[in-house]
Amino acid sequence: MKIKTQSFLLLSGIIIIPIVLLVSYWLMFHHKEQMSFEVPPYEEIFKDSENLATEQDWKKMSSFIARRPANMDITILDRATMTVLYSTVESYPKGFKLESDSLINIATQDSDKFFFNISTPMYMQNNNLIILTKIKKSDIKPRPRFERYVNTVTIISTIILLFCIAMVTMMIRSIATSVTVLKNAAERVTHGELDQPIEVRGSNEVISLTESLNELRLAVKENRARQARFIMGISHDLKTPLALIKGYVEALYDEIPTSPEERKQYAQIILKKADDLEVLINDLIDFIKVDTGEWRNTWQDTDITEFLNNTALKATEAATILKRKFSYKVDIPNGKLVQMDEKLVTRCFENLISNAIRYTETDGEIELRSYEKDIDGKICCIVEIKDNGIGIDKNELNNIFDMFYRGTSSRREKGSGLGLAIVKSIINSHNWEISAESEPGRGSVFTISMPLK
Ligand code: ADP
Repeated sequence: MKIKTQSFLLLSGIIIIPIVLLVSYWLMFHHKEQMSFEVPPYEEIFKDSENLATEQDWKKMSSFIARRPANMDITILDRATMTVLYSTVESYPKGFKLESDSLINIATQDSDKFFFNISTPMYMQNNNLIILTKIKKSDIKPRPRFERYVNTVTIISTIILLFCIAMVTMMIRSIATSVTVLKNAAERVTHGELDQPIEVRGSNEVISLTESLNELRLAVKENRARQARFIMGISHDLKTPLALIKGYVEALYDEIPTSPEERKQYAQIILKKADDLEVLINDLIDFIKVDTGEWRNTWQDTDITEFLNNTALKATEAATILKRKFSYKVDIPNGKLVQMDEKLVTRCFENLISNAIRYTETDGEIELRSYEKDIDGKICCIVEIKDNGIGIDKNELNNIFDMFYRGTSSRREKGSGLGLAIVKSIINSHNWEISAESEPGRGSVFTISMPLK
C-alpha cells in the first residue's frame, strides 16, 4: 500500500475516532438530560398538610421522581386520606381520592400488562405517604438503546484505533527498513560497488525510489564503461599516427633516407600523420563539448528552407571538388521555422554529407531531399541524405553512432569514428530523431526528423 494511502487512513482514523466518541457521549448525556423531569416544589405539593413530609424528604423523593425512567408512572398518596398529592397519571389529579382497597384492585386488574410497586419510603421521617409506581411490562428492555449504541461505537472506535496503531507500526517498520536498505545501497554505489543490484521491496514510493537508484547504478556503470571505451579509443587512435611519426623521425635522424627526394617524402608522411592527429583531436574536442553540454545550445528560430538551401550549396561545391554528383530538392513551403542551434546543426549536416562523399566512389551520387510529414500529429521537416556508395552491413547499422566505431568496409578511408557520434549527440540535444538505412554495395540513407514550429 502507498505511504500516502496509509497516512490518509491513519489520519482519518485519528481524526474520526475522537469525533465519533465525543458525539456519542454528548448524545448520551444529552439524552439523559432530556429524561430528567420537572417536579413541583415542596410548597405546591404540601401546602395544606406540611406534617406529611419534611422539605428534606421531598428533596430526596423529587430527585428519584425526576430521574425515573420515561415509561414509569408515579403516584404519591396521603396514606391517611388516600388523597393524591402528586401523580404523573393524568386521570389521578392532585386531590383525587382513591378508595382504600382500590390500590389492590388497580394492581391486580392490570398485572398482566404492568409492574406495580406500592411502598412507603423508608428514608422519610414520617411514614405518611404511599408511593405507587407503575411500569409497562413491554417497555422494559434489557438496556437503553443509547447505551448499546455508545458501546458499539466504543468497540468500533477501539478496533479502528488498534488498526491505526498496527498501521503506524507497520509504516514505521517498512520505512525504516527501506531507508536502511536504500542508505546501504547508496553507500555501495558511492564506493563504486556497481555490480550488485539493489533489493526492491517496501511500499510503492520506496520501490520506485529503489528502482530509480538501480537505474542510477546502471547509468553510472554504463558511464564508467563508456569512459573506459572512450579512453581506449583515444589511446589507440592517437598512438597509431604517433608511432608512425616517431618511426619516420627516427629514420630521418639515423639518416636512412639518403637522397633529398626521399627525405622530402618522409617529411610529407610525417606532415600527413600530424594532420590526421589534428583532425582527430579537433573531433574529440567537439565531441566532448557536445556530449557534456559544454557547447551550450544557442537556440534560434531558423527558416529551414533557407538553411537547407545554403547547406546544399556548400555541399555541391565540396562534392564537385571531390568529383561526386550532388543534387537536392527542398520541398518545404517558404517561411517554415525550426528551432535549432545553427552552428551545431551545420556541423551535423557537414558530417553526414562528408561521410556520403567519403564512402562513395568517384562520380557517385549524393542527394539531399527534404519534405513535410505528419508524425503522431506533429508536422515535421524530414531531411534525407542519400548516397549510392559502399553501404553498411545490417549487423553494423546498430553500432555506427557509437564513439570510435568504424565499419569494416570503411577502414581504408581515414576517419576518427567520431563523426556520427557527434551527429547523434547534436540530434539528441535538439530532441530530434535520426535513423539510418543501408544496403551494402547500393548505398545508404540517413533520415533526420525535426518538428516545425
Ligand atoms: P568515420 O567515418 O570517421 O569512420 P563515423 O562516425 O562518421 O566515423 O562513421 C562510423 C562508421 O559508419 C564509418 O566507419 C562507416 O563504416 C559507417 N558510415 C557512416 N556513413 C556512411 C555512409 N554514408 N556510407 C557507408 N558507411 C557509412
